[in-house]
Amino acid sequence: MSVETLREEALAQVGAAATQEELRAVDRRYLDKGGEVAKLLASIPSLDPAERPKVGRAANELKQAIEEAIAARRADLEAAELAAARSGAGFDPTLPAAPQERGSLHPITQVRREVEDVFLNMGYAVLDGPEVERDYTNFEALNFHPDHPAREEYDTFWCRAEGSAESGSDRLLLRTHTSPVQIRAMQAMDPPIRAIVPGRVFRHEQPDASHEHTFHQVEGLVVDEGVTVGHLTGTLKGFLRELFQKDLDVRLRPGYFPFVEPGFEFDIRCPFCLQPDGASAGCRVCKKSGWIEFCGCGMVHPNVLRACDVDAERYTGFAFGFGLDRLVMMRYSIDDIRYFMSGDLRFLEQF
Ligand SMILES: [Zn+2]
Repeated sequence: MSVETLREEALAQVGAAATQEELRAVDRRYLDKGGEVAKLLASIPSLDPAERPKVGRAANELKQAIEEAIAARRADLEAAELAAARSGAGFDPTLPAAPQERGSLHPITQVRREVEDVFLNMGYAVLDGPEVERDYTNFEALNFHPDHPAREEYDTFWCRAEGSAESGSDRLLLRTHTSPVQIRAMQAMDPPIRAIVPGRVFRHEQPDASHEHTFHQVEGLVVDEGVTVGHLTGTLKGFLRELFQKDLDVRLRPGYFPFVEPGFEFDIRCPFCLQPDGASAGCRVCKKSGWIEFCGCGMVHPNVLRACDVDAERYTGFAFGFGLDRLVMMRYSIDDIRYFMSGDLRFLEQF
């Protein structure tokens, strides 16, 4: 029998072995003393001297190939037996436990915790609030009158609870921003107030690479005597220094939000293409501009303070809010916001 035929025959038998017992029989037939491979080796001295080295080499390769095939088949059979035993066909308490799959924290959760740590270190409280809100706390108390045009920018999911009003201040909705928690905070606490509000918010939007119906914001609120725009800028700069471990230039542009006056768009130097001189060279994240629109902010509107029974003559405050999803997307170069809520393990396992 040629070495090649012997090899084909042996490997076919290894593959066909359905139990450990059958596999051991194949092992004995080929690899034992007196087995097929041993017989082949024993025949070498009787061969033509020129043939001997060639056949010797082939026999050793054959032996190794059979050993490897048997080891692989054995591992497969063991795994299959274990799986069969675990599937309940006779419970065997001596079997090792199934390996535990360990998950990881969602990237949004990881960065949210980082943000919370920075603000906790600055003496802020971290507040939470309900995701279903009344029109009053989501809009009216934040200086959006019922027919305020800015309401149209917030594509709102309206809800109707049994017996709830269909119009007016008591209408229920999924909060469109985390700002209602600021109202709740000012209603519940006396100044000084220093708090951030991370949380989920909802907009009735057509999802695309940069829009989701469910996303995350972090808002901040400080109310005290003598609070100024300087405090706002200094606080955000300090936060960004901790978050990016870089000193970033910032700029304020006028921006309109009903609940602040004056209101600003807060831009930061792009931390991803920052040069040693403090300028940013321009990259994909900042769309070559060197600046990133980081958040909206401003001084809390006196109407908002009054709606919460805070003495607007005595106290001033600042507020800011940024998108947590966008921050995570920048940090990890994620180009589609829809990955976050997709539940796709191929995405989540990367964090
Ligand atoms: Zn850049």
